[in-house]
Amino acid sequence: MTAQLIDGAAVARQVREDVAKGVAELLAAGGTAPGLATVLIGHDPASEVYIRNKRRACTTAGMADLHQHLPADVDQATAAALIDQLAADPAVSGILLQLPTPGHLDSEELLSRIPDGKDVDGLTVANAGLLAQGRSGLRPCTPSGVIALLDHHDVPLSGAEAVVVGRSVLVGKPMAQLLLERHATVTICHSRTRDLAAVCRRADVLVVAAGIPGLIGPDAVKPGATVIDVGIHRGETGLHGDVDTAAVAEVAARITPVPGGVGPMTIAMLLANTLTAARRQQGLVDGA
Ligand code: NAP
Repeated sequence: MTAQLIDGAAVARQVREDVAKGVAELLAAGGTAPGLATVLIGHDPASEVYIRNKRRACTTAGMADLHQHLPADVDQATAAALIDQLAADPAVSGILLQLPTPGHLDSEELLSRIPDGKDVDGLTVANAGLLAQGRSGLRPCTPSGVIALLDHHDVPLSGAEAVVVGRSVLVGKPMAQLLLERHATVTICHSRTRDLAAVCRRADVLVVAAGIPGLIGPDAVKPGATVIDVGIHRGETGLHGDVDTAAVAEVAARITPVPGGVGPMTIAMLLANTLTAARRQQGLVDGA
């Protein structure tokens, strides 16, 4: 079997177009353009690329790019004061602190200063708690993007066996909660899981976010499964994921490529969250 490639770039384009329409509707209803404040501290090369892409997508969707850059040696109090200033600024609909921050900074303390309604990365304790309780809030972009990809391809989730490899706060845990919300039977694997391949082989839907290149091979995939590769690794021959795509494509029914799978969805869902945040701040309900 040769798997169908899930085209994340195409689905992301559609989401971004929908967001651009939503921004136009917000303006037509007398609202103001959503503003996204990305905050980059230092000069991590990968973070600079991510931030550049996020800023470009933001302006293309008709939103205000309110980017802030702080030097790598900034102290905690100065970084905190910037977050507080953005938190109080009505032009700022969403705040995204690019992680990782330099080692001397306490990123959790900085994240905790972001108001829940402006937390477009879905990382504050309150938004994580709302997700855990299945209540409405801003949800983390990468796992939301995975759900959007699965929905776009009509992958059945209710009653399906879903396995998530990875339990990070950013990806694995919220991913598992979103799949549970959609009534999948969810198993979470991590570095202490015994016989990873055997657990993964149970999955109708396998989401891999371990950060280990090529961790998942065909022996870990049930024939006909849908495989979502969240991993991103920059190698000499370009970008790769956590899945051995070519070999797994012979077993799976559907698979996301790297690049062009989950990555573009993360940025699209960031825009969607920023629009949602702006609507709520401006007193318009979702979809209004
Ligand atoms: P992370 O914080 O390092 O978490 C990795 C998780 O994988 C941990 O829970 C770890 O288990 C688990 N793990 C490590 N080795 C394992 C093994 N041998 N078997 C099973 N589980 C194992 O990473 P992350 O932030 O979740 O990111 C994961 C990957 O996704 C990275 O490659 C990252 O670059 C990528 N990513 C991509 C996007 C995107 O937009 N496409 C967005 C975010 C992240 P323990 O908890 O036991 O240590």
